[in-house]
Parts: sequence; C-alpha cells; structure tokens
Amino acid sequence: MQLHGQNIIAGQSQAGAGSTFNGLNPATSAVLEPAYQEASTEQINAAVEAAAAAFDAYRHKSADERAAFLERIADEILALGDELLQRAHAETALPLEARLMGERGRTMGQLKQFAALVREGSWVEARIDLAQPERAPLPKPDIRRMLIPMGPVAVFAASNFPLAFSVAGGDAASALAAGCPVVLKAHPAHPGTSEIVARAIATAAEATGMPAGVFSLVHGTSHEVGSTLVKHPLIKAVGFTGSLRGGRALFDAAAARPEPIPVYAEMGSINPVFILPGALRERSAALAEGMKNSVTQGVGQFCTCPGLAVGLSDESFTNFSDKLNELMADAPTATMLYPAIAKSFSDGVRKLAHLEGVKTTQAKQTAEFGKTHASPTVFTTDAATFNAHHELSEEVFGPATVVVACDDRAQLESIARNLEGHLTATIHGTPEDLKEYVTLVEILATKAGRLIFNGYPTGVEVCPSMQHGGPYPATTDVRTTSVGTAAIARFARPVAYQGFPQAALPVELRNENARGVWRLVDGAMSQANCGE
Ligand code: NAP
Repeated sequence: MQLHGQNIIAGQSQAGAGSTFNGLNPATSAVLEPAYQEASTEQINAAVEAAAAAFDAYRHKSADERAAFLERIADEILALGDELLQRAHAETALPLEARLMGERGRTMGQLKQFAALVREGSWVEARIDLAQPERAPLPKPDIRRMLIPMGPVAVFAASNFPLAFSVAGGDAASALAAGCPVVLKAHPAHPGTSEIVARAIATAAEATGMPAGVFSLVHGTSHEVGSTLVKHPLIKAVGFTGSLRGGRALFDAAAARPEPIPVYAEMGSINPVFILPGALRERSAALAEGMKNSVTQGVGQFCTCPGLAVGLSDESFTNFSDKLNELMADAPTATMLYPAIAKSFSDGVRKLAHLEGVKTTQAKQTAEFGKTHASPTVFTTDAATFNAHHELSEEVFGPATVVVACDDRAQLESIARNLEGHLTATIHGTPEDLKEYVTLVEILATKAGRLIFNGYPTGVEVCPSMQHGGPYPATTDVRTTSVGTAAIARFARPVAYQGFPQAALPVELRNENARGVWRLVDGAMSQANCGE
C-alpha cells in the first residue's frame, strides 16, 4: 500500500496545506516516509460535521448491520497482512512476533466481542415498568428505559498500543458498537500505522453500507488539533488514553465548553503491589523474578506497569528487594516507543535518583541515545522517605519501580490509605496473610479499579468482567472501564419513554421481545414478552 500521509475525512483522503511531520523509527532514529499533514481547522470541522450527518443513519442501522461492520473491520485488518505489522514495528520498535501479532489478534478480538455484544442486544439495559391504571391513590404510568448512542465521539489514540488502543482500538470499537460515529486523533508517534488501519475502516464502512462520515482520521503534533476537536459543539463524548497532563487538559477543555461533555480519560497509575509476610517467606526469589518481568514487560510502557512494591522490613523482604535489585541490574536496556517518551522516562528517573534516602539501581548495560533506550531501574527506600516525597508515588512511565520497606503493619496500611487512585492494586500473600490483612484489601478496593491476588497487573484480559479504570487520577470517570465489553456504556445514555404506544417504541422496549434481549420487567429479569 502506498501511504499518502493525508487526513482521511469521511472515507476520503484530503491533502492539507499546513505543516507536516514524519514518523520515526525509534530503534534507528531513521525518518520514515511519507510526511504527514497536520489537520487544518477546516478539516477537523469537516470530519465532525460528517460524523454528525452520519449519526442518524448509523444509529438506525440494525444490530446485525452494525455488528457486520465491526466484524468487517477486523477482517480488513487481518487482510492487511505483514504490511501493517512491519509499519507498526518500524514506528514503535515493539517486537513483531512477541507483541504486534498478539496485539493485532487482540484488536480483532475486541471488534468481534463488541459485534457479538451488539447482536445479542442486552447491553441496552432495557427496563420496563408496566402501567397500573388502577393503582391508588395515583395510577402508575407505563415507563420504559434503555441506552441510546450519545452522538459523534472524539477518540485519542494511545502511543503505547499502536493497534489495540489506537485507530481501531478499544475506544473506537466501543463507540462504534454503541452507534456513535468516531473522529479519531491519530497518535503522532505512529502515523503510518494509523493511516493503514483507517483505510481498512473506510473500506469496511463502504463494503457494509455504512455512511461515510461514520469514521474520520485526523493527524497532528500540536495540541491545537486535539483541543479543536474536543471543543467542537457537535462532539458529544471523548475517549482518551495517555498522560495525566493531556487527559486533564482535555477534560478541563470539555468541562469549559458551553455544553460540557464527558471525557473518559485513562491516565497515570503506579499499580501498587503489596507483598505480605507469608508470601515472602514462601517465595521471595520468585516474587522478585515476577516483579522484574512485569516491570520490564513491553519496556514498562503499560498503564498497568507495577511502579511500587511495599512490604514489611524483615529478612524475607530484604531478600526480595536484593534479588529484585540484582535482576533489574542484569535486565537489558530496550528501545522505547519514541524519543519524547524516553526523555520523559530518563527525566523521571533522574528526579527520583536525587532524593535523599533512596538507593537507585540501574541496568548495567549502557543505554544508547540513538536507539531510544531506557535502562530498567529500581529505587529502594523506607516508608518515612516515601511519605516525605510525593514524587515517589507518581508514575515514571517506563521500566522503573519503587520498593518501600515498612516498619510495621500500621505503616504499610497508612501507605495504602494515602495512595491516590490507580488502575490496579495487587496483593501477594497466603490465605493466612489475607485473613490478617483484611483491612488492607478493604482499603485497596477504595483505591483501584482491579484488585489482583498472587498475580501481576500487566496483561489485561479483554472480557465482559474486566474493569480497566479507577479513581482519579487513574481516570476521569471512576464508574467506567476502557477495556472489555462494559466499555460500551461510556458512549451511550439512558432515555425513558413514558406512555408511548407500542409502534413508536424502540424494538427492545416493545411488549413483544422480538430480539429476545434480557430486560428488567416490573423488577424481574426476563427474556419473555410482556404486557398484553
Ligand atoms: P500524551 O502526551 O498524553 O498524548 C496523547 C494524545 O493526546 C496525543 O495525540 C496528544 O497529541 C494529545 N494531547 C496531549 N495533551 C494534549 C492537550 N493538552 N491538548 C490536546 N491534545 C493533547 O501521551 P503519550 O504521548 O502517549 O505519552 C506521554 C506520557 O503519557 C508518557 O510519558 C506517560 O507518562 C503517559 N502515558 C500513559 C499511558 C497510560 O496508559 N496510563 C499510556 C501512554 C502514555 P499531541 O501530542 O499532538 O498534542
């Protein structure tokens, strides 16, 4: 495929007149062709207007039609073959087989899970309260409620998942599944991958009879592109994965609009790991190995990377800490996604390394600047130092973690109590540890969206029960998830119909349950018909 470097507005590539930028191979510093054009304000407006124009036609497509569109996107992505993977590899340095093939499978799997969800139909959460005209003292009206799509959605692709959280990733797939057209802001670190996938989506839209405005792609390296998109009055919701600074800026911009809209931003998290005494006595070396693997997986470029390990200062914890230091020192340096992310990592490491009372161990292998290398790093300290320096509890995005030794259980629990919101919190322990540390589990449930027992936070399963979210600053909306089929709820809103005749109701709310969806009828779940 000859890449054109243009924005794709409602299925059409459009040349722009503005400035351009190029992708870069972070492993070699080679500039990648072609140059990509920053979207102009006119192009962003055209993309949003096309999305708004497509909204009525798209939301009225049947569930089967919408599901077929999602499945066709997955098929078109697979049909791209090696070209997609090679470009993603060149732009991100993520390993082809060990990572990008799996990520492509995950991307397709997500699209197919959402297609199945849409076909099954119960996601609309239909609730029906039948009328009781004879009720005294007042008759009860007929009320029926379900979720409907919100309207055009702006999605920001993530740098760290060029496929699964980018152009056809979880945010775009869940918005499209809900019935919302998408205008996607490509991540400037992988513009070629973005163009290839966007063209596959445009092909799928045409092949399945979707309105062209259902999907557009805009490029940009300046914040202007993203903020213009978020401020556009026809955009009704935003999906974002990235930095706390970026997510917060977009959240604030959306809240300051004359019509505020929801921003579902998934941002920073250090994913604390609490290692309890019984587990340490049983397997301190294995825990150090597991922690090192999780911290360095994907060069630490996962929002679930465990950036904090806490335990009681005893011999077993010292063994754990010593072993982790040794393993991190021996870990290889590796290429990060793009130079700015590597710089942000090395700045973060430098900041923590200067703190008094913090021991820093870095990988022995020399990091090469031209290869965008990061050195795996572990910081070791005590609870008093940790509590005195807030920076130690802030995300350093990359292969780094902080190990904190506590004097006693009260100090360990106070660290947990002082945590901000995180995507995950992990406990390693024995059944006896769990009984003794029941308060810790309760505290952590108030701090994180997903609690993990005797596992590691990296490797997020895509499934209906997954919760990938958490209290601020992990996300801007603690009630939602950005992974798994429950993510669809972010782009839908409830509407109740009171006293409507059958023919004027959406099919999911009629007495005859033609689609057989699960509904709450007069307080009980049912797939049956209802009423008379
Ligand atoms: P980012 O800087 O937040 O950028 C993500 C996207 O948002 C880009 O398209 C960016 O476009 C846009 N953007 C950022 N700030 C904006 C603003 N103020 N107004 C409008 N648009 C804005 O994230 P990143 O490039 O992926 O990585 C930078 C840092 O984010 C990392 O070092 C890491 O700390 C964090 N990160 C976290 C996660 C996570 O899952 N928690 C994932 C990836 C990265 P422009 O750059 O063109 O403005």
